[in-house]
Amino acid sequence: MSVLEVKDLRVSVETEQGTKEILKGVDLSIAEGEIHAIMGPNGSGKSTLAYTIAGHPKYHVEGGSVTLDGVEVLTMSVDERARAGLFLAMQYPVEIPGVTVSNFLRTAKTAIAGEAPALRPWLKEVKEAMTDLRMDKAFSERNVNEGFSGGEKKRHEILQLELLKPKFAILDETDSGLDVDALKIVSEGVNRAKDNTGLGLLLITHYTRILRYIKPDFVHVFVDGRVAEEGGPELADRLEDEGYDRYVSTTGVA
Ligand code: ADP
Ligand code: MG
Ligand code: MG
Repeated sequence: MSVLEVKDLRVSVETEQGTKEILKGVDLSIAEGEIHAIMGPNGSGKSTLAYTIAGHPKYHVEGGSVTLDGVEVLTMSVDERARAGLFLAMQYPVEIPGVTVSNFLRTAKTAIAGEAPALRPWLKEVKEAMTDLRMDKAFSERNVNEGFSGGEKKRHEILQLELLKPKFAILDETDSGLDVDALKIVSEGVNRAKDNTGLGLLLITHYTRILRYIKPDFVHVFVDGRVAEEGGPELADRLEDEGYDRYVSTTGVA
């Protein structure tokens, strides 16, 4: 059974005011097939956690570890992380001018698998996944993220998730800016990935809305660069009613 483990992770960034400590000792353990929701107020460091696991160069690891089945992830290149089975959907996905969705997906699949997928079955798989996500066929010939609407970007993320079949995925505010119909379609895709490939998921969200469609096994409340409280799905219900005030007032975070 695969496990992604974060231990005492401490991360800083350089700002104009000097070095700023953002993650102050994060501990998390996600086994394959588990869905973990990370919830917390704005500025608590949720995206920093996602970027650090993804290997974004802006985030300096001051201590701690992130291991996938016991192997250190933090010393891997971004490509190596993807090949090891990690997938990160960025909160603000970048445009890739001149690269179509179709080419991008095949290139990514080839890089991760170490060889190009056989063309016909691959095209069939892409077509089926796009149909499941109610994506128009023409979408595959568009350039990655160029002029994509918020909903199209999210669907494209989930399309990647379904086709690239990572062991673990981190979705950062995948729910933001989606209407209810798009949210349902995106959530169905995530649930399919979990059921079909045993995906382990770290679902970062400010709001509880997406948790009506993607049921978390564990909920972690993130405050001021740490996990402040952990529980089951009932914790999300409580946050829905009470918000984050309780945590914020006790730590003095604005
Ligand atoms: P969240 O995703 O929970 O809203 P972030 O991880 O985006 O939180 O940010 C946590 C804190 O770190 C914030 O105070 C933010 O301003 C700061 N921060 C994050 N990234 C950077 C960066 N690249 N440069 C400077 N400050 C940053
Ligand atoms: Mg934020
Ligand atoms: Mg964020």
